Amino acid sequence: MTQQGILIVISGPSGTGKGTICRELLRSNPRLKYSISATTRLPRVGEVDGVNYLFTGKEQFKTMIDNGELLEWAEVYGNFYGTPRRYVLDQLHSGFDVVLEIDTQGAMKVKDNFSQGVYVYVVPPSLDELADRIYKRGTDSPEVIKNRLHCASSELKLAHNYHYIVVNDQVAAAVQRIETIITAEKYRAERN
Ligand code: 5GP
Repeated sequence: MTQQGILIVISGPSGTGKGTICRELLRSNPRLKYSISATTRLPRVGEVDGVNYLFTGKEQFKTMIDNGELLEWAEVYGNFYGTPRRYVLDQLHSGFDVVLEIDTQGAMKVKDNFSQGVYVYVVPPSLDELADRIYKRGTDSPEVIKNRLHCASSELKLAHNYHYIVVNDQVAAAVQRIETIITAEKYRAERN
């Protein structure tokens, strides 16, 4: 029988660099699968439908909820985000490890059903550093940035709900830490 894959849930405040970390993690570990979320948020410049997100309208998103197609969903910064259930379950059953990059509300909903998953919270070295990164990213309006920074400080208080906290001081170092966590957790899962 194929060994079931493990679920790796990665969260962290906006601008903490978790997107970059996930991209690097997936690039260097082809056996990891990334769950593409559905969202009602409008695409940012350079984002591609079906690659970064499944961009959907509000009605379509609601239909997905009603049909039970989402493993979890949450409203984040005024938009809806959700994890398509089918893809995640299929990949896990096929023995692949699946990465979800989702917010804390979604992560806690997933944790209720997948207690055997690995929950990783990525934090910036400091809140000043976080503000700096969000400004430099230049993809959000001043209003949005202000809101995200406000949410970040309260979000950081939820870090204790995760199994691991990884400081993103350097992307390569943070990726390596998460790879080590995955290796250890896979070993543990195989022994159980
Ligand atoms: P962004 O708009 O910056 O791409 O994402 C905003 C927040 O939504 C981030 O914290 C991101 O992790 C979260 N997010 C992305 N996809 C999902 C999802 O499927 N479910 C939940 N609950 N949050 C998500």
